[in-house]
Amino acid sequence: MRPNVLLVEDEEALRMTVGDRLRTEGYLVDYATNGDEGFEKATHLPFDLIILDLMLPHRDGLSMCRDLRNAGLITPILMLTARGLTEDKVLGLKTGGDDYVTKPFEMQELVARVEALLRRVPIGSVGSRGVYYFGTIRVDRRATEVTRDGEPVNLSIREFQLLKYFIDNAGVTLSREQLLTDVWGYNAKIFTRTVDVHVASLRQKLESDPKQPLFIQTIQRVGYKFTPGVATS
Ligand code: CA
Repeated sequence: MRPNVLLVEDEEALRMTVGDRLRTEGYLVDYATNGDEGFEKATHLPFDLIILDLMLPHRDGLSMCRDLRNAGLITPILMLTARGLTEDKVLGLKTGGDDYVTKPFEMQELVARVEALLRRVPIGSVGSRGVYYFGTIRVDRRATEVTRDGEPVNLSIREFQLLKYFIDNAGVTLSREQLLTDVWGYNAKIFTRTVDVHVASLRQKLESDPKQPLFIQTIQRVGYKFTPGVATS
């Protein structure tokens, strides 16, 4: 799997240089040119790493980093700081940055820092550590919060537990009996209708077209299968 990097930098020349180099190294690179756009992308798309310049229009890098951590995002953040500003580095790490490189930097150094950070967090594992994305839906398991297109979705506790179970068993066909046993703790087959009612409700809240569900598929005569698909970025 190719690591997905978000590069937030307003200087076009640097954005191009860093982006080209990272792509050459095998990374997928997406860009933001200011703090607001960076925050928006970082909270809606699944990145493995964020490279964040501190001097940015609209929302500076330190504020953006703090806002991301407050929003529960745990994606590693590598900061780009100006030369000699020691207080920037200290503040950067205090607001939730994981590492920094000082401008001007050698491309080789940047790549080495990126690799080191990604070694700490296995690629694609951010989901299992708290925040999970599918489509335009973001599920924060620790905060039990779900958003769709950035808007909060109100799920009942049982709906949230059911969704979590689907996520944990993505791609696996799950029988109604299994769902009842593991999510509700029931044994009796007569309650399987309960599962259908909750799945219908989840589809209503999460699917663009609940009658043609993309994420929670019906498996005839068996039950359901959660198919998160490929993240669009
Ligand atoms: Ca800048």
